[in-house]
Amino acid sequence: MTTFRFKALSETLNRKPVKFEEKKKYSEIFGENVFSENSMRQFLTKDAYTSVMNAIRIGSKIDRKIADQVASAMRDWALQKGVTHFTHWFQPLTGGTAEKHDAFFEPIGGGNSIEKFSGNELVQQEPDASSFPNGGIRNTFEARGYTAWDPTSPAFIYGTTLCIPTVFVAYTGEALDNKTPLLRALQAVDKHATAVAKYFDKNVNKVNSFLGWEQEFFLIDKALVIARPDLLLTGRTLLGHSSAKGQQLDDHYFGSIPQRAMNFMRELEYECMKLGIPLTTRHNEVAPNQFEFAPIYEEANLAVDHNSLLMDIMGKIASRHNLKVLLHEKPFADINGSGKHNNWSLGTDTGVNLLSPGKTPMRNLQFLTFFINTIKAINDYEELMRAGIASAGNDHRLGANEAPPAIISVFIGEQLTKVLNDLENVTNGKLSPEEKTELKLNVVGKIPEIMLDNTDRNRTSPFAFTGNKFEFRAVGSNANTAKPMTILNTIVAKQLKDFKIEVDKLIESKELKKDEAIFNVLREYIKKSKRILFEGNGYGKEWEIEAEKRGLSNNKTTPQAIKEKVSKKTIELYKELGVMNSTEIEARHEIQLEEYSLRIQIEGRVIGDIALNHVIPTAVNYQNKLIENVKGIKEIFGDESKKIAKDQMELIKNISMHISDINSDVNEMIEERKKANVMEDPEEKAFAYCDHVKPYFDKIKYHCDKLELMIDDELWPLPKYREMLFTR
Ligand code: ADP
Ligand code: MG
Repeated sequence: MTTFRFKALSETLNRKPVKFEEKKKYSEIFGENVFSENSMRQFLTKDAYTSVMNAIRIGSKIDRKIADQVASAMRDWALQKGVTHFTHWFQPLTGGTAEKHDAFFEPIGGGNSIEKFSGNELVQQEPDASSFPNGGIRNTFEARGYTAWDPTSPAFIYGTTLCIPTVFVAYTGEALDNKTPLLRALQAVDKHATAVAKYFDKNVNKVNSFLGWEQEFFLIDKALVIARPDLLLTGRTLLGHSSAKGQQLDDHYFGSIPQRAMNFMRELEYECMKLGIPLTTRHNEVAPNQFEFAPIYEEANLAVDHNSLLMDIMGKIASRHNLKVLLHEKPFADINGSGKHNNWSLGTDTGVNLLSPGKTPMRNLQFLTFFINTIKAINDYEELMRAGIASAGNDHRLGANEAPPAIISVFIGEQLTKVLNDLENVTNGKLSPEEKTELKLNVVGKIPEIMLDNTDRNRTSPFAFTGNKFEFRAVGSNANTAKPMTILNTIVAKQLKDFKIEVDKLIESKELKKDEAIFNVLREYIKKSKRILFEGNGYGKEWEIEAEKRGLSNNKTTPQAIKEKVSKKTIELYKELGVMNSTEIEARHEIQLEEYSLRIQIEGRVIGDIALNHVIPTAVNYQNKLIENVKGIKEIFGDESKKIAKDQMELIKNISMHISDINSDVNEMIEERKKANVMEDPEEKAFAYCDHVKPYFDKIKYHCDKLELMIDDELWPLPKYREMLFTR
């Protein structure tokens, strides 16, 4: 009998690499499948072009007649590229992307037909989306959902389909997707950051939020994944003894990229270029068979779309190379999981990065203003930032000595720490001319223009300043970046709004000069935000103790962490900034709790199935072999056999013990699941899954992994860690 595992292994070993040849230079194909400004100029009338550009730049409405023109231009552009269908492309709360394709083709009678695409079809669609999670919104309001064209993210072609980026909202206006709140948050940060930026330059009319993500993932042979029910159904291995060689030798990071992975990456990059995703970096990551992709940063809305699109097409292209992409945060125990760093900055329409120091003291005061306000925002909303990255998968990664802990802190480096210390001593009220000169020359003036090389890159910090941007490193690999980006931009918007009010008040009431008022407010912010600054080792146990003293949250599990999403403070924040109303907030919380429970439930079912139907039968099988062996020894050696077969008998006993432990653990877990399943309240249920069901996984895994080490390798049915991680 050949086990499933050996069939999979032989399939893997017999693979011929699927070659990929780039037919053109990247610069020739970049954006060719995007209805970009260039294609718009070519295909649209002048009026329509201006109208769309205004919608993109200042959010003005596009009227029906113009929409018809845009639609037919899009259709003409798409048809010449062999497109047959169109879809509204959106990001529902399930986390992925959704699409429903409709053909342009329409019969018009008499055996004739045309290719049709109207303004109505472009602007609005009503997907039968009743099975998307909505947290009761649509039931409560008896409203249906519709998708609406978002002109700020350009339409693109994938395969033979024209994809139109849209938002997904209920007829009553509530957002049913991840994009709508992000767009609102970006509007808020634009408004308040522009107002503050005007202190320094009256010509600023818009502030954009930028995002550069770094996507980590594993690439595993398809046949091996299919032979592991846990990987196939949950995205992670629920059991499996660690490989003798893992990542100890640090020989994978930045090593030469294996050929099969390389072929996949080249094809993916080629597709990305056509889609206008500026993917420029690829390298091996720390764990074996783990890799990373990073693009050049873009305006946050587009960057979020591009990341969602990438996650979708990665799977499709990998499949052509007989590989599976694992985006789970922790697919394998004992080696690193995957994250997605979110590099974030703010920039003006005059081309200035507000988080980058400059040549003049004024530019540096502007930099310090945005820098310190960001720190203050994180300080005030650290718990919400943690909530924004919570997921069942990311819970395994945070605080596991490979990723930042569940405690949010900010790393700024030695130089800027010194600058903040100096600023803390600025005089209260009016500044003397000497002090002003001193500040200009020796504090603000001393911030070097380029700090990239000077910042000590503390990899253990969840939120680090890296020279001209902040890097949020605790985001999970599988996350939709709209979620953390909505939170970050909202809290910074709120902070800048408050800052402006305080500065204006000081200017009016105390007759301070603008820069004096700014220094005064920043000084107080530095004092108030001290607890969030941490330069030490974020992985250490000492930091947990210290952080607790500082009153920082340390929410280790998703149900606990996301409580903050529905706190009074959060609801007020979102309401004030116009990002979400309480219905939207509560609906999202409920959806996330349900999703969490379902994920743990599925994991529980899968681990139970593998333990009872794969591991135990294999163990019994091997035990029978041993029993036969002992019987044989007895036949030959009679009384002496007890001594001779001692080890075999011990093994038989051990196997029995593990089998019995597995059986009782699985049964107890099933009982806990039953209890959780009848709970009505989604939060109570999520906590039950988290605290009472999930703990059995490790117990069951422990015994299964022990058996894996005891049982004849030839009988073991599941691909082993070494096979998944080192087969290339
Ligand atoms: P790392 O050392 O973490 O790999 P890199 O310097 O390679 O960092 O940059 C990582 C990401 O940061 C890239 O996606 C890059 O485009 C992005 N990035 C660079 N500058 C900015 C910025 N000003 N705002 C946002 N993202 C940026
Ligand atoms: Mg990084």
